[in-house]
Amino acid sequence: MVSAETDELTQMLTRLKLTAIRDQLDALLDEAARRQMSLRETVVFLCEAEIARKDERRVHMAQSLAKFPYLRTLDDFEFDAQPSLDPRQIRDLATCRWIANGDALLVQGPPGVGKTHLAVGLGREAIRRGYSVLFISASSLVTVLSKAQVDGRLEERLTHFAKPKLLIVDELGYLPLETHAGHLFFMLVSRRYERGSILITSNRSVSEWGSIFNDSLVATAILDRLLHHSHVITIRGDSYRLREKRRSGLIKPSQVVTDAQASV
Ligand code: ADP
Ligand code: MG
Repeated sequence: MVSAETDELTQMLTRLKLTAIRDQLDALLDEAARRQMSLRETVVFLCEAEIARKDERRVHMAQSLAKFPYLRTLDDFEFDAQPSLDPRQIRDLATCRWIANGDALLVQGPPGVGKTHLAVGLGREAIRRGYSVLFISASSLVTVLSKAQVDGRLEERLTHFAKPKLLIVDELGYLPLETHAGHLFFMLVSRRYERGSILITSNRSVSEWGSIFNDSLVATAILDRLLHHSHVITIRGDSYRLREKRRSGLIKPSQVVTDAQASV
């Protein structure tokens, strides 16, 4: 191709923000020729390359906005190691229908059994399907909200946490929460109610939420909203990490109980 024409085409593709086509034009056209594509097939082929790049960028950007503590996928999750889980239930949740419906999801179980892993995996699946996601620990959430209340910016913060289609609140019940935590949490849950989904991981069962929030009335009010449209995953069994260590002979089976208790 004449270089002036190439320049013009590059400029037009830039202006149209078709950067994947622009950057790989020669390679894409060569490939289309090699596969003897018709003109229409070639246009489709070019569009696919552009969409693939845009999707990849969107997922990358949404993942960094989600602030996951680590990146894990549902494919990395070993279901054989966690027989108390039904893989069909997780596969069904991975379709994200519950997020489309604005349902809540509670993932409960002892430390180290894969609650955060599943939450991140489901969060990434949600992003892949175009939903906005935000991950935060329960203690950070309460700290941020109570500071905002002191600064007179609670409304602003509640709006911020009400925006993502899926809010993941991790580790509810691990750390003692301050006195006002229940009220702040209730305000947030009410704000999001029937608008967006919330995924909560906890080492405590719902019957213990009264003691998590030091207030059984507020805990009941929160649960009333959460459990209205909800799914619950209960994981039982040993910590995955301890299981791995035990397998590799680093610790003896008798130590597992002690270590698991120590990390509660
Ligand atoms: P918790 O239940 O305390 O949130 P995590 O989800 O953080 O536990 O799991 C602890 C570690 O063990 C993570 O690195 C996680 O990826 C890994 N893990 C836990 N369960 C499994 C599993 N079934 N398959 C693969 N990795 C797992
Ligand atoms: Mg965790």
